[in-house]
Amino acid sequence: MRVLFVFVMLSMSTWAVSSEKKAISQPPFAIAIHGGAGTILKENLSPRLERAYHKKMTEALKAGYEVLVMGGSSVDAVQTTIVILEDSPLFNAGKGSVFTHEKTNELDASIMEGKHLNAGAISGVSNVKNPIKLAHAVMTQSKHVMLSGGGAEVFAEKNGLDIVDSGYFYTERRWNQLMRVLKDNSKSSRLSEDKDDQFSGLKSWPDDDKFGTVGAVALDQAGNLAAGTSTGGMTNKKFGRIGDSPVIGAGTYADNNACAVSATGHGEYFIRASVAHDICARVLYKNISLQQAADEVIKDKLVKMKGEGGVVALDPKGNPVFSFNSVGMYRGYIDKDGNVYTGIFKEPLKTEEK
Ligand code: ASP
Repeated sequence: MRVLFVFVMLSMSTWAVSSEKKAISQPPFAIAIHGGAGTILKENLSPRLERAYHKKMTEALKAGYEVLVMGGSSVDAVQTTIVILEDSPLFNAGKGSVFTHEKTNELDASIMEGKHLNAGAISGVSNVKNPIKLAHAVMTQSKHVMLSGGGAEVFAEKNGLDIVDSGYFYTERRWNQLMRVLKDNSKSSRLSEDKDDQFSGLKSWPDDDKFGTVGAVALDQAGNLAAGTSTGGMTNKKFGRIGDSPVIGAGTYADNNACAVSATGHGEYFIRASVAHDICARVLYKNISLQQAADEVIKDKLVKMKGEGGVVALDPKGNPVFSFNSVGMYRGYIDKDGNVYTGIFKEPLKTEEK
C-alpha cells in the first residue's frame, strides 16, 4: 500500500512539471503549426501586426504543448491549438475566414490520428464556431469520415458544438479582400470573355493575403502522431468549392510509421498532388528523411505543377519539418526544452521575446 502511495505521489509530481521545461525522464513529445502560406512580404506587414502573429502562434503552441506535458493525446493537442487559431481574426479559419463569391463563409476542416489511421473531416459549414471540433466529432462520434454542408451542421448541433450566426465570421479585412477581387474580376471580364468561369477567380486572387489556413501536428507521450487543418478556403470561391484542407491525404495526414502533415496553399493543386499522403508515402517507401520527402513534394513536384504553398510536419520522433515554395509561411514549434520558435518569412525561426 505504502509503495503504491509513493508511486502515485511520484507520478503526480512528474505531471506537475513546469510546461516550460520537460522532465528528462518523459518520452519525447512535440508540436508544430502553420498559419498559412503565401506572398507574405515584410513590407506589407506592420510591425504591430507582425508581433500579433508571433504572439498568437506562441499562445496556440503553448496551449497544445501544455496538453502534451500533461500526458494528453496528440489529437487533443492539435484540437486545442487549432481552436485558438480559429478564434483569432488573424487567420483564415473560424473567425476571420475568407468570403465566398456569394459573400458567405464556408468552412472546411479535418483531423487524423496516426495509430489507427482514424480521421474526421467536414466541408462547407457556415455556422459552426470551431470546425476542427466538428471534424474531431465526426472522427469519434460517427461512422463516417467526411460530412458536408447542412448535414454536417445538423451533426454539429446534435453533438452540442457552439453554433454561431453568419455575422460571427465577418472581419473587415476579409470583406475588403473579397471586394477587391470582385472589382478586379469585373474589370478583367470586361476586357476578356470569361471562358472558364469556375477558375476565373483563381487567376485573379490578389498576390498578398491569399492564404491563412491553420494547421497543427503533434506527437504525444504515447508515441502517437496527429495532424489537423482548418480553413475558410479561398476568397471568392464559388459553387460549393472545397479545397484540400478537409481532404484526408491532401491537406492532412498522420501515420505513426511515417509522419504527420498539415498543408496550406492552393488547394486544387494540393488535392491533385495528394500532398500530405505523398510526403508520408515517400518517407515509408523511399526510406528518406521527412525533410527530403517534404521538399521533394513541395519544392519539386508542386512547383512543376505551379502549385503554391507549404506544409508543417513531424516525424515519429517529434522532429519538426517545414517546407514551402511561397514567399512566406506563418509557422512555429516548441523544441524539446520547451523553447518556442515562430517565423513568417524565409529567415530562420525566432525564439520568443522574454
Ligand atoms: N488550402 C486552402 C484551400 O485551398 C487554402 C489555404 O491554405 O489558405 O482551401
